[in-house]
Amino acid sequence: MEASAIPTSRARVLSGMRPTGRLHLGNYMGALANWVRLQNQYDCYFFIADWHALTTDYADPSQIAPNSIQVMLDYLAAGLDPRKSVLFLQSKVQQHAELALLLGMSTPLGWLERVPSYKEMQENLTSKDLTTYGFLGYPVLMAADILLYRADFVPVGQDQQAHVELTREVARRFNSFYPRGGRNRRDSNPDTHPAANARQEGDEVLPEPKVLLTPSPKLPGTDGRKMSKSYGNTILMSDPEPVVRQKLKTMVTDPARIRRTDPGDPDKCPVGDLHKVFSTPETLQKVYDGCRSAGIGCIECKGWAADGLMKVLQPIQDRRAQYTEPQVIEILQDGSGRARTRAEQTMRGVRDAMQLTLTT
Ligand code: SF4
Repeated sequence: MEASAIPTSRARVLSGMRPTGRLHLGNYMGALANWVRLQNQYDCYFFIADWHALTTDYADPSQIAPNSIQVMLDYLAAGLDPRKSVLFLQSKVQQHAELALLLGMSTPLGWLERVPSYKEMQENLTSKDLTTYGFLGYPVLMAADILLYRADFVPVGQDQQAHVELTREVARRFNSFYPRGGRNRRDSNPDTHPAANARQEGDEVLPEPKVLLTPSPKLPGTDGRKMSKSYGNTILMSDPEPVVRQKLKTMVTDPARIRRTDPGDPDKCPVGDLHKVFSTPETLQKVYDGCRSAGIGCIECKGWAADGLMKVLQPIQDRRAQYTEPQVIEILQDGSGRARTRAEQTMRGVRDAMQLTLTT
């Protein structure tokens, strides 16, 4: 028997990440830290999008399962609590695939071809052949992920708002074709267009989710560009202290400071950006004063930045060490069971609305 979904009347939030490897500080500051706060206010569903990883890594799926374990360890290390949030693996909730298939029937091809990241990723990931049906359709799968839980909010950064907007359009189109209750409902209201019918009730089969904008600080990688796995410039949440210090030592600085005696400007230095996020106001003041007067060297300044980073990372790493892989698998199995219960509730409404149920 499936475990029951968390009974609650709080608004529901859903988000997930692809398991492409251990998570980095950019993932933590840009999403996870916010998710940890949200789980105290909302009915939260956080998942690992292993089927999404297949849209780009279909030729070699060998790392998807081990990466899923690592990402869940990072979720738990960040402070996501399986007693507060439903933590699950996408492929263990097969209703995601069913809903993606059904939504694909009514989603126009042009909507998918116009998604900016479709062309961008094809151009950037030249080592992979992304001219596949699965890759083109990933926004439909993403819409299914969200709509399956009838999520009220999706926490995203500014650059991902378009995906939620597309999900809203997919839901709107679905609801316009398929009002709750399907044919019987329409038959009983022969003069009413199905879309109007559903809206009148305020009870759409797939409610449109809203964006919950995540404030995310500017977090540079070691080369000064945005921290990103694809640039190879990350500091991982699980990097031990010596690795963090070593990575910071090689981090680029204000190019104006060629010699130790040259003054610099923390506002033009990626290390300065790290200080703004992780250091105390006192340390930040020391950095501004010392850098602008050439009173401190970059090595010393980077050491202070490492101290600030480790204050955040150490408790995360301590929590990570408390979990074993079998425990992580158990948490995922339990969470996936709860997610299936919720997902199946939605799918019953979807099948009914699409008249896919056999009735006499
Ligand atoms: S002293 Fe610090 S802020 Fe100034 S350039 Fe060096 S690393 Fe950057």
